[in-house]
Amino acid sequence: MTTAPAHVDALIIGSGQAAPALAMALAGRGESVALVEAHNLGGTCVNNGCTPTKTLRKSARVAHMVRRAAEFGVNTGAVSIDFAKAMDRMHERVNASRAGLEAWLMGTPKVRIVRGWGRLAGRSAQGFAATVDLPTGGQEHITADRVYLNTGTRPFMPPIDGMRQGIDAADPRIIHNEGLLQLRACPQHLVILGGSYIGLEFGQIMRRLGAAVSIIEPGPRIAAREDELATSIITQFLQEEGVAVLSNARLLRVESTSTALRLYIAQADGSSQTIEASHLLVATGRVPNTDALGLESIGLVPGERGYIHTNAQLETAVPGVWALGDINGRGAFTHTSFHDYEIVRDNLLQADAASRAVTDGQVRPLQALRSADERTTVYAMFTDPPLGRVGMNRAMASAEHARSGRQFLIAEHMMRFVSRAKEESETHGVVQFVVDAQTEQFVGATVLGINGDEIIQVVSNYMATGASYRLMRDCLPAHPTVTEFFPTILDKLKTL
Ligand SMILES: Cc1cc2nc3c(=O)[nH]c(=O)nc-3n(C[C@H](O)[C@H](O)[C@H](O)COP(=O)(O)OP(=O)(O)OC[C@H]3O[C@@H](n4cnc5c(N)ncnc54)[C@H](O)[C@@H]3O)c2cc1C
Repeated sequence: MTTAPAHVDALIIGSGQAAPALAMALAGRGESVALVEAHNLGGTCVNNGCTPTKTLRKSARVAHMVRRAAEFGVNTGAVSIDFAKAMDRMHERVNASRAGLEAWLMGTPKVRIVRGWGRLAGRSAQGFAATVDLPTGGQEHITADRVYLNTGTRPFMPPIDGMRQGIDAADPRIIHNEGLLQLRACPQHLVILGGSYIGLEFGQIMRRLGAAVSIIEPGPRIAAREDELATSIITQFLQEEGVAVLSNARLLRVESTSTALRLYIAQADGSSQTIEASHLLVATGRVPNTDALGLESIGLVPGERGYIHTNAQLETAVPGVWALGDINGRGAFTHTSFHDYEIVRDNLLQADAASRAVTDGQVRPLQALRSADERTTVYAMFTDPPLGRVGMNRAMASAEHARSGRQFLIAEHMMRFVSRAKEESETHGVVQFVVDAQTEQFVGATVLGINGDEIIQVVSNYMATGASYRLMRDCLPAHPTVTEFFPTILDKLKTL
């Protein structure tokens, strides 16, 4: 006997960074909501991403600063790392964060959490149909008027000889971010495949916690989305801490032996080398969780790489279905996912206001719908020092100039000339501004250096105003801060 599917106004599949707040907002509008989550509430950020890495980063930074203590006139004994304790601290933070979220969601009337793998299953007379594979083995059927997808990404596993086999065979030494966060002992030699943000953050953290670390980057340089100057600074501070960076290096094959993983690497110059690792962290990018979502059953076709195309209001090509967070390809960050939620929420509230106006017989001026097209994505990479970035960098502005002839102004100022950085003995880095020569508006900034993750938001928020750089140049900054150099740097703007 089959039971009739439960019907809800809104079905949310995946509890990423948009979903919990969206569930609350929809319930606040009086809607019944089913939120389907296959694993832990809170998604990647809380469980395997931002929260654990930034918590571990603090342990790593403390270790680093204690090792440097004598430079600051502070004498300590020999530094030793209690790796398991650092991991426990991280897990406590993750658990507390997840528990807070669970309590918040579960205490909300009209929101029902359904544990299991959700999949769309076409349409029924009641609306969209979905099936949830429950962890207990059964299935639950749900129908919904509207569907919101927030299913995030998973690690990409490149097809390298020996590696897939290793992972399929559950070789505990070949890991991605989730596996690394479960370690109880510090790896002896952690080799990281992929020199982008996740690989670099983990590389520095694990080095500081006591591992030997090598980063294998197939391309010519790590942090390749940043300018060459930024790459060279990041490479320098990682190497100074003992992280080996192998660029132009291709991992050909992984061999599991009883004592180690043997990695066969080819260099672009034709040479080859073999290195032994206790663990291999695969950090080669992420793929969207859209392939087992039953999208085809409602006629929704993702793009070539699996991302779901949306309009600026984050509606998919199928009316009544929205895609939020990493899967829409409009950002791969917690803040972009949460911002997606805010856009959807505000546009629904706007629609509510419009329909109330019709019922009241009143004419109210409608505000423009919020749009994801209008945001300029800001982000940070949490190496130490961190990198904050918004909009264009030098390389992008040069390419744009070559393509369209658009004129830019650019200024760069090395952190070693910033007094606050000198006072703190943390002088690695650079501040770079890119300005449109005609409009005088900022089009981008990079702040690599102490507090770069926070400082960048001064520029990104300022960019949202559309004001000329001259206004910022004439503002009064506090001393001694990195930001106090903004007027000095802006005075140095030159044609690119
Ligand atoms: C190691 C690491 C560090 C990171 N650090 C940062 C950082 O410092 N700052 C930052 O902004 N971003 C960071 N990110 C990225 C950030 O975690 C994501 O961009 C963010 O979580 C937004 O993801 P999302 O909302 O799209 O979904 P996610 O957070 O990925 O959540 C998706 C959820 O959907 C569930 N799900 C998927 N398919 C189904 C299904 N069919 N049925 C039911 N449930 C399903 C998954 O189990 C998961 O819980 C980091 C990522 C990683 C891996």
